[in-house]
Amino acid sequence: QTLKETLLGSIRTIPDYPKPGILFRDITTLLGNAKAFRRAVDELVHPYAGMKVDQIAGIEARGFILGGAVAHQLSAGFVPIRKKGKLPYDTVHVTYSLEYGVDEMEMHKDAITSGQKVILVDDLIATGGTAEGAVKLLRGMGADIIAACFVIDLPDLGGRKKLEDLGVTVRTLVEFE
Ligand code: IMP
Repeated sequence: QTLKETLLGSIRTIPDYPKPGILFRDITTLLGNAKAFRRAVDELVHPYAGMKVDQIAGIEARGFILGGAVAHQLSAGFVPIRKKGKLPYDTVHVTYSLEYGVDEMEMHKDAITSGQKVILVDDLIATGGTAEGAVKLLRGMGADIIAACFVIDLPDLGGRKKLEDLGVTVRTLVEFE
C-alpha cells in the first residue's frame, strides 16, 4: 500500500457533522490504526530529520496528538496553542476567523523565544483561518516558522494559498475534494 492509500483508507468521513451538508474528515480512525499513525508521523517529520527544530506548535486538539509525536521524533519541544481560557499562565492571544464568525486562541507568553525555529502542526487545513491565527501568534513572538504541516488538505477551501501568501511553507499529506 502506498502512503496515500494507507492514509486515505484509514480516515473516516462522517456526513452532516457538525452541521448538515458538511463532510467531516475524522482522523480518530487513522490515529487508532497503528500503521497509519506511524506512517503519517514519519511522513510529517522526514524532511526535517537532522535539522535543528526548536519547537513544534500544535493547535488544539488534534494538533496536540500529531504534534506531540512529531516533537518526540525530532527531539523538539512542544507548545500548545489553545482555545481562549484554557492556559494557566499569562498568554498572548489572537482573534481568528472561522467559516461563520470569529474565535480566539492563545499561547503562554514565554512559550517561544524570539528566533526559535518552529513547525506548526494540525490535522487538517480548510479555509486556513485557524492556521493563519496560529502563524500570527507565533510570528508575534518572534518565531521562525519552518513550515506548517497538516495530514489533510481541503484545497477547494483555499487554506494552503492563504498561508503561502503569508510566506509560510505548507506541507500536507492527502487531499479531499
Ligand atoms: P480552517 O480554519 O477553516 O482551516 O479549519 C481548520 C480547523 O478546523 C482545524 O483545526 C481542524 O481540526 C478543524 N476542521 C475543520 N474541518 C474539519 C474536518 O472535516 N475534520 C477535522 N477537523 C476539521
